Amino acid sequence: MVPRSFEYFAPTSVEEVFKLLKEHAGDAKILAGGMSLVPLMKLRLASPGFVIDINRIRWLEYIRESIDGKALLIGPLATHHDLESSPLVRKRLPLLSETAGSIGDPQVRNLGTIGGALAHSDPSGDWGAAMLAVRGTVKVSGQSGERSIPIDDFLVDTFTTALRDDELITQVSVPMPTESGSGGAYVKLERKAGDFATVAVAAQISLEGRPDGSYCSYAGIGLTALGAKNLRASEAEKRLVGRKVTEETIAEASAAAAEECSPVGDPLRGSAKYKRDMAGLFARRAIESAVARAKGDTRRKSR
Ligand SMILES: Cc1cc2nc3c(=O)[nH]c(=O)nc-3n(C[C@H](O)[C@H](O)[C@H](O)COP(=O)(O)OP(=O)(O)OC[C@H]3O[C@@H](n4cnc5c(N)ncnc54)[C@H](O)[C@@H]3O)c2cc1C
Repeated sequence: MVPRSFEYFAPTSVEEVFKLLKEHAGDAKILAGGMSLVPLMKLRLASPGFVIDINRIRWLEYIRESIDGKALLIGPLATHHDLESSPLVRKRLPLLSETAGSIGDPQVRNLGTIGGALAHSDPSGDWGAAMLAVRGTVKVSGQSGERSIPIDDFLVDTFTTALRDDELITQVSVPMPTESGSGGAYVKLERKAGDFATVAVAAQISLEGRPDGSYCSYAGIGLTALGAKNLRASEAEKRLVGRKVTEETIAEASAAAAEECSPVGDPLRGSAKYKRDMAGLFARRAIESAVARAKGDTRRKSR
């Protein structure tokens, strides 16, 4: 339980980070909240020779609306707690505050960051699924410039992302949904409070159209712990977009989500069949809650 010895840096600017990453590419790790990296180092599943602590670059912790109001911009050091408690996020993208509030326990939420969680890319992590549902983009930067990577391309495989060794996540951006007619929910099955998901589903829905505004114009559905990485339930989304949202369309979409996921059974959290069944049930609950919120039921709690 003792990590390999390493050299520790605490730079105060991103330029210094870029330089250090370039110099030590392949043998350096960024330290954000340390909630995943430190346990991995103690278990020697990660043994970097150089640890670059970015916590002194305080401006990397922010949550704000873009100037044109079209996007929510999140700094990589925004903690799960920041996102759970932000009035802006709660009002405009409750799916994200709900996701943040479902992570671990208060200690983990106070230290763990969205940048660290996305870079870690744990298929049982919650942020990847939420970002798939809202079609977020991850901005990564380094000495060779900046890239904006749609979340579908950013999440490559289990614990593997499109991030290069010499790059830092510098922003996560999310298209801002319309103030009325949009809703989202994150619904998670846990063995016990504070545990990683057995399964979880993120759903973001927009409704419009005459006469009763119940045609689906946008559907984003992300799945947690149901495959080698966080998955987009694209068949489920197709069953909703352009159609009137009824009990039947929601049932069809939920069944599609259960069909298209690829869970692996494990002795702690259940068989692959159980997880697939739960994927269908939790997809239905997430979509129902998102639709209710899109219809203006702000008191609706996801179950
Ligand atoms: C007890 C416990 C329970 C947990 N429960 C959950 C849960 O229910 N759901 C969930 O999703 N997660 C859970 N987690 C994980 C938690 O969310 C972590 O906070 C998260 O996975 C990593 O964030 P971090 O800021 O701690 O990153 P760190 O541990 O500091 O870093 C993780 C990885 O990301 C890299 N990294 C960090 N920041 C950046 C950046 N800006 N740019 C590039 N690379 C970067 C690091 O080099 C490292 O490889 C739990 C953790 C613990 C310890």
